[in-house]
Amino acid sequence: MNRQQIRKILLFWMFISLPVTLIYVSPVILVKGASEGIITGSMILITLTFIASFFVGRVWCGWFCPMGAEQELCAEIQKSPVSGGKLNCIKYGVWLLWILIIGFVIYNAGGLYAADVFYDTDSGISVTEPGAFMVYFILLGVLFLFAVIAGKRGFCHYVCPICVNFIIARKIRNLIRWPALHLDADKSLCIQCNKCSKTCPMGLDVKGMVNEGKMENPDCILCASCADICPRDAITFRFL
Ligand code: SF4
Ligand code: SF4
Repeated sequence: MNRQQIRKILLFWMFISLPVTLIYVSPVILVKGASEGIITGSMILITLTFIASFFVGRVWCGWFCPMGAEQELCAEIQKSPVSGGKLNCIKYGVWLLWILIIGFVIYNAGGLYAADVFYDTDSGISVTEPGAFMVYFILLGVLFLFAVIAGKRGFCHYVCPICVNFIIARKIRNLIRWPALHLDADKSLCIQCNKCSKTCPMGLDVKGMVNEGKMENPDCILCASCADICPRDAITFRFL
């Protein structure tokens, strides 16, 4: 089994497990718990993925995120990249609002004074009641619309506040030159076949990145698809 098959199996598994895990990956449940002074499972998971991103960048997005998984399934229908540009900034605004709300509700609750990993679940399972099923299907519908209207992984590009955590961690890591997982490229090996750009689930211009010698891109989810498809091994995926 090759690396991309493993990645796709992981993503598929995370996607079909979403009715169980939804609450643990929800930024909304994090806020709800914080408003009651409770450290929830989602707060713990989101904090752990943030810490991990100092070492492995956006590996969560590329290998584990169930929302990303659904959007990659939609790439069978919509193969175009997002238009990008200024719309990419929306996620930073969403992230800032989310952080401010978290700060406000924690202040209002008088701090965080309890932990409940299974907060708001039914014996650890996220989706068991009709209301929760409705939220689940609305979420699936929103992700589907973003992926087919906006382009490849449109929700990740434009809205997701969690990915901003990882982008910030990567910027800090790059500033202090912390060793971490990343892409490298040797443009002298490139034959301009463009397979890397076509396969990129984020719709990035990977061939352009190779030719410019700039493999660091905040929207790269370190899925390694480009490295694995390159016929000349011009792209490498490694820990440096
Ligand atoms: S797949 Fe490899 S050879 Fe083809 S354009 Fe990309 S880097 Fe160049
Ligand atoms: S640039 Fe390569 S590693 Fe990054 S998201 Fe695109 S295909 Fe994945």
